[in-house]
Amino acid sequence: MLRKTASIEQQPVWSPRHSSELYRVEDWGEGYFRINEAGHIGVRVDATEERELDLLHIVEGLRARDLAPPVALNFVDILDHRLKRIYTAFEAAIEENAYKGGYQAVYPIKVNQQRPTVEAVFRSGARYGFGLEVGSKPELMASLAVSTGAPERLLICNGFKDRSYIEAAILATKLGRNIIPVIENRRELRMILEFSELHQVRPRLGVRVKLSSRSMSRWGDSVGSKAKFGLSLSEVLEVFEELQRHRMEDCLKLVHCHAGSQIQDIRYIKGAVGELSQVYCELAAMGAGLEYIDVGGGLGVDYDGSQSDTPSSINYTLEEYASQIVYRIASACDGRGLPHPTIVTESGRALATYQSVLVVEVIGRSDPSVLGRTLDLSTIDRDAIAEHQPLADMLEALESVAPDRIAECYHDAVEARRQAMQLFSVGYLDLLWAALAEKMFHAACLALVECGSEMNEPPEEVETIRRSLDMVYFCNFSLFQSLPDVWAIDQVFPVMPIHRLDEPASRTAVLGDLTCDSDGKIDRFIGEEGIRPALDVHELNQAEPYYLGVFLVGAYQDTLGDFHNLFGDHHVVHIRATEGGAWRIEDYVEGDTTQDVLSYVRFDPKGILRALTDDCESAVAEGRINLEESRVLRRFYRTELQGYTYLD
Ligand code: PLP
Repeated sequence: MLRKTASIEQQPVWSPRHSSELYRVEDWGEGYFRINEAGHIGVRVDATEERELDLLHIVEGLRARDLAPPVALNFVDILDHRLKRIYTAFEAAIEENAYKGGYQAVYPIKVNQQRPTVEAVFRSGARYGFGLEVGSKPELMASLAVSTGAPERLLICNGFKDRSYIEAAILATKLGRNIIPVIENRRELRMILEFSELHQVRPRLGVRVKLSSRSMSRWGDSVGSKAKFGLSLSEVLEVFEELQRHRMEDCLKLVHCHAGSQIQDIRYIKGAVGELSQVYCELAAMGAGLEYIDVGGGLGVDYDGSQSDTPSSINYTLEEYASQIVYRIASACDGRGLPHPTIVTESGRALATYQSVLVVEVIGRSDPSVLGRTLDLSTIDRDAIAEHQPLADMLEALESVAPDRIAECYHDAVEARRQAMQLFSVGYLDLLWAALAEKMFHAACLALVECGSEMNEPPEEVETIRRSLDMVYFCNFSLFQSLPDVWAIDQVFPVMPIHRLDEPASRTAVLGDLTCDSDGKIDRFIGEEGIRPALDVHELNQAEPYYLGVFLVGAYQDTLGDFHNLFGDHHVVHIRATEGGAWRIEDYVEGDTTQDVLSYVRFDPKGILRALTDDCESAVAEGRINLEESRVLRRFYRTELQGYTYLD
């Protein structure tokens, strides 16, 4: 590809293909994203060229409907396709291993609880018999409602349970639901026994096993002796014996484990499934009525496209994942002469991630190199400079930049700036000279980068200097609300412009959000050679908005977001592809208004308006403002309370 070395402008022609390589779209896009001939992102909703949508056109279409960025676009067809992909992978593994049991996925709704998403999964999953997984009472209530009319579909209840959670699950069995409360501790077992007797129900039960094999993932603590959830092997035995005492061993239908989310290395999946399979076989041999083996979630996503066992990637494919699970369960059962159970997975991330793209608009920038560019050496008073040692040193460093002196000049400039600022802070250097020192420092940095970019092997300082000159592109969104994992766990998501990809991106920038928090920035991006601290971006121009897309954000981001600075939920629009590149809005959830977020923190919007009106009345009475000014101020309040929390 064209290298972004000396000067990208010198390159003859920049095509969408070059942008595709620059942002590594093919590596992380799974066939769902590409760059089209117009230089826009094309969304291939079922990973084929027949059904491709133009992302920029969608954003413009939404803007025309008052759904301006920040907006998350959920592609319903991608979700359908993911369901199919996961099912097909297990179907192939089942055939390859001559497995005699079936496969069913359950969707853990915590991953993305948006009603349209849960309903879409349930609807599209019908043809594969997929069910739902819940981890709390509110999730149970939502799932019981979504699954009316399909009582046979699995409903797995994980998480800590109280009496009402358990009673609801037992009663749902009476409704005819295929609901399986998974026992996490002995207290839950006692409540299950009590309510089963009270309501005369033979429940279908599961046990969650605390695995000993630790997994390599950010959530590796989900297993091991200190894991929050599940029963140790001896507790599993005690639970089983208790069921036997109540002649309910046939009620134990499922064994379950969850080895952590985003498991990077296939070895840990093999270990966990191997261990769980042995528990399954032991309990089945002792007479449990087992039908299912549930290996939980953990199937990872290759966010950075590196196919490696690093936190933002995975070193296996979906097919390998399915094949290893089926093979290990089959071998354990065959070794004990036991029938093959139905395999259940609770993959959330791998299912929901690809469907969603967050689009944000760049609303401004800060460019540290401007300081250096505006320095005109011919106008400076050299005699006066000579009287201020740090400035004289800085000038010397600036004027002696040469390929063999890059490190030296840089260190001299850094030291000169430090001294200048120290003198300024104690009052020995006035503001004019301190400002000149700052300008000269940036001019030196620019000269050093330019000099370094003409060298084949520039010293490492050049990269440090280059980074210090990175621009900040300010984007209309809140990182804490829309991409909480970037802040909380340094998650790397693919980020790139969604248009102008037929032009070279001539600058680099980190991205800043709207919050007054220095953590509200993105400074880790996918690059040609791994993670990079800045993104290749285009120069902003007044004539058109500049949009960036953050991809693969369909899992966990929506509900983990918070209200830092009272920026509320962004708009979420569920898009369905129709024929010939057309699309329609299948559903949408408008983002929070200002009065919504104020109410969350117990401000009464009507009270706010009243307080302001009283204030205006007093000001009018005292002649500080006139009636017209009072009207403008009250109108501003009324309109803004009903408006989006982001910038217009
Ligand atoms: N099942 C359980 C019990 C979980 O706790 C989780 C998430 O942590 C999942 C399934 C979903 O995991 P993933 O999104 O990695 O597939």
